[in-house]
Amino acid sequence: MKLDLARKPTPLEKVHVRGKTVFVKRDDLTEFVASGNKIRKLEYLLGEAVSMGADVVMTCGAVQSNHARATTYLSIKLEKKPVIFLKEWHPGKSSGNFLLDTVMGAEIHVVTPEEYEEIDRIMEDYAKKLEKEGKKAYIIPEGGSSATGSKGYVDMVHELSKQIDLNEVDAIYVATSSAGTHAGILAGLKILGYRNVEVRGVVVHRKPKEVVIERIRSILTELGVDDDGIILVGGFEGPDYAIPTEKDVQMIKDAGKSGIILDPVYTAKAFRGMMETMGDKEKVIFVHTGGTFGLFAQNSILEG
Ligand SMILES: *Cc1c(COP(=O)(O)O)cnc(C)c1O
Repeated sequence: MKLDLARKPTPLEKVHVRGKTVFVKRDDLTEFVASGNKIRKLEYLLGEAVSMGADVVMTCGAVQSNHARATTYLSIKLEKKPVIFLKEWHPGKSSGNFLLDTVMGAEIHVVTPEEYEEIDRIMEDYAKKLEKEGKKAYIIPEGGSSATGSKGYVDMVHELSKQIDLNEVDAIYVATSSAGTHAGILAGLKILGYRNVEVRGVVVHRKPKEVVIERIRSILTELGVDDDGIILVGGFEGPDYAIPTEKDVQMIKDAGKSGIILDPVYTAKAFRGMMETMGDKEKVIFVHTGGTFGLFAQNSILEG
């Protein structure tokens, strides 16, 4: 079952940045507290939670997880208790997404990076404990990246196809992390028959590329499409996940002048990856996946 949670369709805007013209699919406008890409996945995932009569919704992520923040808000709206497992909290991080999680009263469990390696098991154990207390928990994997969640991005392609002639588009750029967004877009293009459009996923962390490709491949298979044409753009990861480079900070400033607010974890890296790899004559779309609250958590990068 799919729930109708996001403000759709999101606008498709033509913007000019650094002398280049690109189309931006404004998925940073899908909601307010639940803004960004995760809400489209959550329409399907929380639909499943509602169908099974869950009382609790559980998920995990980094301390500044956009996904945990969106899940918290939407769970509350659906009258389910949000339980989130966050990696590596330390004092001074009470801003951005984490601040909102706190304001909304999410049950927050902080885990170490070592524990996080086994986060799926930790969540399952906790769900079992709740079960003994008579509560039913629905577990959402990191980033909401499963075949179920990715269907939200199959639907986004359908929405996009009504806003622009995709036969004339060369590429769609997106930030790729847990990769469900990338997989959903690629599956959507295949299902609708737009094989001319490349999906170029700009990787934003330093996990091995094979792991990311395997994740996309398995989602594509589960969605019943072939696994051809998986394209990852490397070289824009920076030192690590959530750590932007000087060039990313400059990208945030340059895009800001055009009214596009990028975040330091995902979209700044992806937008820069697009600027530096798109062909001169290519018509490209950037899927703006949101992340704005994460910028507030890293305000110091823009000082001085
Ligand atoms: C989660 C997230 C992404 C990455 O999406 P995945 O499906 O995990 O690859 C990109 N941008 C923002 C702002 C996000 O929160």
